[in-house]
Amino acid sequence: MERPYRCPVCNAPLEEDKDAGFKIPPQCPYLDTAYPELCALHDKLYFGKWRKMEADPNDIKRAFAKLGRYLSKMREFVERENVESARRDIGKAEDVFAMADVDEDPYSSIKYMDQALSYIHHAINDLLQEKKAKLHSPADYERHYDVILPFKEDW
Ligand SMILES: [Zn+2]
Repeated sequence: MERPYRCPVCNAPLEEDKDAGFKIPPQCPYLDTAYPELCALHDKLYFGKWRKMEADPNDIKRAFAKLGRYLSKMREFVERENVESARRDIGKAEDVFAMADVDEDPYSSIKYMDQALSYIHHAINDLLQEKKAKLHSPADYERHYDVILPFKEDW
């Protein structure tokens, strides 16, 4: 029987994520964060192939589906934690995500997906700030991913 094994810290399946170029490290890199699962999911999308120059429409469609699932999870978290700023940022993420239409035009959907991911990042930081924890910076985890980013974030 096949039973996918998940990381006990961040809940990520312990298999290589080809879309994200994620290699399984000996110890979970998200061990020190207050929201390991949310940060890990963020970074898998942040460093994902869909944001690279060589992304094909299917990479973008797969990322769109992942982003949608991630966004619902974020919604559950912010409702549970009841942090108003995080709730607002997730609302913005949902609005902009709704503007993406990957079936119609995958390439112009990237910018909406990217903005949605950015609002999600804000929401994670709102949650972390509430706990007075260190803010999430994907750059701290970059070495676990195969990354060449097409553009720089302004934060
Ligand atoms: Zn982990």
